[in-house]
Amino acid sequence: MIVGIDLGTTNSLIAYYSEEGPKIIPNRLGKNLTPSVVSVDEEGNVYVGETARERMSLYPDSVAQTFKRSMGTERDYILSGKHFKPEELSSLVLRALKEDAEAFLGEEVTEAVISVPAYFDDKRRKATKRAGELAGLKVERMISEPTAAAVAYGLYDKTQDTRFLVFDLGGGTFDVSILELYHNILEVRAVAGDNYLGGEDFTEVMAKLFLQKQKIQLQSLSEKEQVRLYRQAEKAKREISDKAQVTMSFLQGEEQIEAQITYKEYEEACEELLQKIREPVKKSLADAGLKLNDIDEVLLIGGATRLSLVRDFLIRLFRKFPDTKMNPDETVALGAAVQAAMKERREEVKEVILTDVCSFTLGTEVSVEYEEGLFETGRFCPIIERNTVIPASHTERLYTAHDNQKKVRVRVLQGESRFARNNLYLGELEIDVPKGPKGQESVDVTYTYDINSLLEVEVTVVSTGLKQKMIIKGEENQMTDEEIKKRMEELAYLKIQPRDYEENRLVLTRAERLYEEALGDRRKKLDHYITAFETALKKGDHNEIADARKALNEVLEEDEDW
Ligand code: AMP
Repeated sequence: MIVGIDLGTTNSLIAYYSEEGPKIIPNRLGKNLTPSVVSVDEEGNVYVGETARERMSLYPDSVAQTFKRSMGTERDYILSGKHFKPEELSSLVLRALKEDAEAFLGEEVTEAVISVPAYFDDKRRKATKRAGELAGLKVERMISEPTAAAVAYGLYDKTQDTRFLVFDLGGGTFDVSILELYHNILEVRAVAGDNYLGGEDFTEVMAKLFLQKQKIQLQSLSEKEQVRLYRQAEKAKREISDKAQVTMSFLQGEEQIEAQITYKEYEEACEELLQKIREPVKKSLADAGLKLNDIDEVLLIGGATRLSLVRDFLIRLFRKFPDTKMNPDETVALGAAVQAAMKERREEVKEVILTDVCSFTLGTEVSVEYEEGLFETGRFCPIIERNTVIPASHTERLYTAHDNQKKVRVRVLQGESRFARNNLYLGELEIDVPKGPKGQESVDVTYTYDINSLLEVEVTVVSTGLKQKMIIKGEENQMTDEEIKKRMEELAYLKIQPRDYEENRLVLTRAERLYEEALGDRRKKLDHYITAFETALKKGDHNEIADARKALNEVLEEDEDW
């Protein structure tokens, strides 16, 4: 079975295609969302999801989150002294999801369709694929998140040709995509986005507003206090959507501090973020050659679209109500599962042709002759332009720039700058050309970009027919199969905690955190119930453990309502 995975910045989900359609697979705690948080302790034990998130305020040096934002970079995360790259942390999340799916489905899961933001460049996509491989998953296909959403909404089933805008505001990334359904073909017309904008920024605004009201400097708070502050800000942010005002409280040292924040104040403080949202919307419309009122439907996905101030903003912008019939957290994973079923050629799923666009320009470096004999080197020559529908193949003819030039070097670059040096280097090819006066010899450079984001570059010397070809799968951090195997073995020393005891671990970690946050009698009460639970665990009697856990949970819930 091929599963569909939404590897999100904040939460990840895994889904499969059941007899009744796509379904989310619950994790070991019975929940659909697994926080994309990883913690590794001194002994090399790995915690993923909620338990890892609970460890954040207790052991901040052992936890990593929002690493999706750094996918494809060399950023080094150090957890309890051990080093990890973003894709390795993601692979630990994927490993947990894979185990949960296997336990649920009762069969081994080795293949997956994984979603990526449409705006992810080549490097980030490759890193995502490697994360899958490190987790022992063959990544059958990557699907862009908005396409997955459109598929989950069943948009491809519409009878009339329609234009949709998918508005995806997740925890840390923002994507806008314009899709068009035309004769059974669902085509992504344009994508735009911002890899550094998401729900977390709205949480930060809430936290800052609170500090500003209380005249507290963020720097004066300890790391643990900052984690607690953000937790409270997140809670307030979720509450404010259906209230005129919320009370946010927070424990600083021994003192409980409270402030009232009104919807209006919060909306004003978020004004800058709302303006930032406008830009990619404008850009995607411009790239697709459309106007706001050409859009027939607006779909909302990503957890942060639950914020009513975001919804209000969109209603004002589009003068129509967005379609919200699906759970914005689950749409992408469900779409990925439908795509997986299409890959398996399942009969129940209507075949639909999904196309995608290349979200960045691919080109090469050239010298430009701006006056007779005067060249400017280092210029960028686009070959496949941003938002071209893929698969795509384009050819550009380039001429020799010097007399008696012996070779032509094609540097493969990705980006939007006019200058080669500002764009991302992906690789290069060299080919021999017959000597002659400048401009006499030429090469045809063909770029072919496929649906799985593999770029094939072919260079042909026009006069001799000599050819050189290369497939770009990544660049300096590209790993060979052996390297992946070696790193998998290295990561295998990490002991993923057995699934069975996850609930106990989570309750204990949460209790430990709340104990640290509590004072006086509350502390004593917690201590009493924690000790009772620990005693039951030591004795190993199942019923007793379940009872003690239930009792402890009830006490924990007294001050935690989410
Ligand atoms: P995602 O990456 O799509 O899982 O989105 C996660 C983001 O959605 C986080 O920043 C959450 O704070 C935000 N979010 C989830 N539920 C709500 C809610 N009810 N109101 C406001 N924001 C929410």
